Amino acid sequence: MIQLDGSYGEGGGQILRTALTLSVITGKPFELTNIRAKRPKPGLRPQHLTCVKAAQKISGAQVEGARVGSLELYFSPGALRPGSYYFDIGTAGAVSLVFQTIGPALAFGASPSKVTLKGGTHVPHAPSFHYLAEVYGPVVQRLGFVFSFELRRYGFYPAGGGEVRIKIYPRQKAAPLILRGPYQKKEVTVLSVVTTDLPSHIRTRQAKAASARLTEEGFRPLVVLEKAEAASPGTFVFLKIAENPKRAGFISLGRKGKPAEMVALEATTAFLSFYRTGKAVDPYLADQLLLPLVLAEVPFHFDASLLTQHFFTNLWVIQKFFPEFRPEISGELEQPGEVKHLF
Ligand code: ATP
Repeated sequence: MIQLDGSYGEGGGQILRTALTLSVITGKPFELTNIRAKRPKPGLRPQHLTCVKAAQKISGAQVEGARVGSLELYFSPGALRPGSYYFDIGTAGAVSLVFQTIGPALAFGASPSKVTLKGGTHVPHAPSFHYLAEVYGPVVQRLGFVFSFELRRYGFYPAGGGEVRIKIYPRQKAAPLILRGPYQKKEVTVLSVVTTDLPSHIRTRQAKAASARLTEEGFRPLVVLEKAEAASPGTFVFLKIAENPKRAGFISLGRKGKPAEMVALEATTAFLSFYRTGKAVDPYLADQLLLPLVLAEVPFHFDASLLTQHFFTNLWVIQKFFPEFRPEISGELEQPGEVKHLF
């Protein structure tokens, strides 16, 4: 039985999600205490509970402590059950995080699976649908994880109600993965989206401001404008750079009172500061790649612009299941010194 202290490192929900995925795949039960101890509202929130329920469903697991607010969880998986699943988070909790919990596990099935998820598709502190489909998806495909992503309805904070459908194929042969910077290309995709209940000029202003800033810095923006149907109003700008096999993505979400130009500026500033580091992998993909990498069992190397506390916390959980996993990764440390013992 693997024992995990949920207050370790960042002390957030990632400890739970990674443990669920690896437990289903390895068949090893775990016990998690102090769930999300370092978050303002500790314990399982609806989005974390959906992850638990989803992992339980796909593996016929025995579970104790699966309720909102719970600080402890016992999870003992059975055999993996590929199939068609529907999970509704019920809030604007991120569908991407639920997907990243069960998608890699279902890829170990002998037949394909289909998962429909309802909740937030573009919400703070989580991969957006576009990040999932256009950054995470193509990179993990090289590691043998083949997913096809469909956005059926957008979901923003606070109403959620977005819907994605994802097909998960049985794992294919993985190829070694080397992601090294710098990027040579100067093309950047600029996706500017606004819901139908907001004025259209917002998406044009967002796109114009982002393009102007990128052009000033010598980039060639490829602009895509979209109108979104959603349960509550929302806007965002998503920037993506892709130079196979490496890719990176940055989103800025709008909110009431935040000018369209500010939304654009936030996304371009994040992108430009990443680009200038000369590295291949953004701080988000760095932590999200660890789990597919340990499962792929191929040689790999990547250089990241920043190795966050989230990254090291995730690595700590992975090493509980795979103690021999010592990734070869380089990048600036967000908190120098604190985590050196992990390598
Ligand atoms: P909580 O306890 O609230 O669930 P957490 O520990 O699960 O928190 P966060 O630190 O909020 O999680 O991060 C969740 C995941 O979302 C991480 O894998 C992170 O890389 C990813 N993420 C956060 N922001 C972005 C973003 N802008 N683009 C892509 N991925 C993101």
